Amino acid sequence: MKILFLGPPGAGKGTQSKLIAEKFGLCHIAPGDMFRQEVKAGTELGKLVEGIMARGELVPDDITLKVIEKRLFAEEARKGFVLDGFPRNIAQARALDALLEKSGEGLDLVINLVVPEDELLERARTRRVCSVCGKPYNLRLDPPKTPGKCDVCGGDLITRKDDREETVKERLRVYNESTRPLVQYYAEKGIVVSIDGREDVGTVFSHILEEITRKGLVPEEAV
Ligand code: AMP
Repeated sequence: MKILFLGPPGAGKGTQSKLIAEKFGLCHIAPGDMFRQEVKAGTELGKLVEGIMARGELVPDDITLKVIEKRLFAEEARKGFVLDGFPRNIAQARALDALLEKSGEGLDLVINLVVPEDELLERARTRRVCSVCGKPYNLRLDPPKTPGKCDVCGGDLITRKDDREETVKERLRVYNESTRPLVQYYAEKGIVVSIDGREDVGTVFSHILEEITRKGLVPEEAV
């Protein structure tokens, strides 16, 4: 199963794509998470992308593609993958098509999460992530059981640098300019389904599962 999540920053791509990957044993591929790990580890790549991310801009395509390619064809992706945050522009989408062509199998489904802009700004204001394992929370919609602590690993919850208001506005601008055209790109291939991302995590998740089932993608052992 090869699934791609589209949607503006804060639409719930990270949360939902991780749930789907977990449910079906797929590889979760998110360049944003990989870049954040590099920044945290202080690597050369981390130093290169830190400023770009803090400003809400896109990391250059050649760097992003190198990071992605390794994961797409890794052993963990044997059963398939869920892409979260890649591609982010038409050039990346074409590069992905070319990579998948090599393996003879294209994407099965593109889930487009739709959330209005005022709600996205509010979500960024109330979003926290675990400083240890990266699990995302929302103080309003999906709060942790113990305030300030991760439910999974107990790590401290922090605000991501790129959730600052100015950065969020820039990320939304970049999304509208570069990433939104991908909805049309995949619509022309007949593989996009738009889902209302305003509902709570469980409801959005069940709508996504319905679409995966409707497409006939659910492996027998998962039924
Ligand atoms: P995300 O966690 O997906 O919101 O990504 C956080 C940041 O990582 C973005 O604002 C970009 O700076 C960078 N990034 C993530 N994915 C990509 C991509 N496909 N192309 C370029 N930059 C990316």
